Amino acid sequence: MRYCFGVDVGGTTVKMGFFQEDGVLLDKWEIKTRVENEGAAVLPDIANSISEKLVEHQVTKEDVVGIGMGVPAPVTKEGVVKNTANLGWGYKEVKRELEELTGMNAYIGNDANVAALGEMWIGAGKGYKNLVMVTLGTGVGGGIIIEENVLVGTNGAGAEIGHINVNPNETENCGCGNKGCLEQYASATGIVRLAKRKLADTTEATVLNVETVTAKDVFDAVKENDKVALEIADEFGSYIGRGLSIVATMCDPEVFVIGGGVSKAGEILLDYIKEPFMKYAFFANEDVKFVLAQLGNDAGIYGAARLTL
Ligand code: ZN
Repeated sequence: MRYCFGVDVGGTTVKMGFFQEDGVLLDKWEIKTRVENEGAAVLPDIANSISEKLVEHQVTKEDVVGIGMGVPAPVTKEGVVKNTANLGWGYKEVKRELEELTGMNAYIGNDANVAALGEMWIGAGKGYKNLVMVTLGTGVGGGIIIEENVLVGTNGAGAEIGHINVNPNETENCGCGNKGCLEQYASATGIVRLAKRKLADTTEATVLNVETVTAKDVFDAVKENDKVALEIADEFGSYIGRGLSIVATMCDPEVFVIGGGVSKAGEILLDYIKEPFMKYAFFANEDVKFVLAQLGNDAGIYGAARLTL
């Protein structure tokens, strides 16, 4: 049996997994992401942690296929990151540095793309070759897989579906600097923004509180048939349904896998996405399935491990 490592680098923690090459997860742990000094310690910390695990599991480097790693930034095919929002890294040859530090092969990808690969390998996308993963978290991430290959693109920015413009009339800025991006309506923070706007100009009775409302509150209230919450969910759905209908025309997927914190709302979330999707979808895309992600926070380490195989 040979082995591989899957590493999911986040702004506060690095999640790590030690796998058999058939996908069996043998060990899972986390280390802190030390972002100070332009993130200089991040890769050495990862390399040290991996070499400790090799000793602990009595496995030699020769038995390791490689180290796969997802990072929260666009990553080129050569494993180069040009900038990061929350790791402190500027231009960094991540693949080369990690290989030098560990003496093992390293494979680097964008975290959302890597999560898509994880869901295809072991999770909700198992058995599919063409899938789109949509991560509804603090932002909206995307991963597009075509014939089992991740769409990376020229700058490593393929499948940045959170930044599809779905509202040319928006006046507030997205984190990317544009206005009207899907992320402004379909992320957890986007849903809160929609809710606050709605709550500020409605006189309807509602359980939602304009000061404290969260995305979870909105979908909990939807399940109680709260009229204002239903309207917020409809608005959320119209933006994401339309956005995904555009994505579908580009890559004609078999399935959309919906993950991230917002997806904890459950199956009801899919209904709110599917209905407007069908309204805008090109006829040939109408049979696409919508499923909830299954791997949760582990999608990143599974997908990263899959990169090595
Ligand atoms: Zn944007």
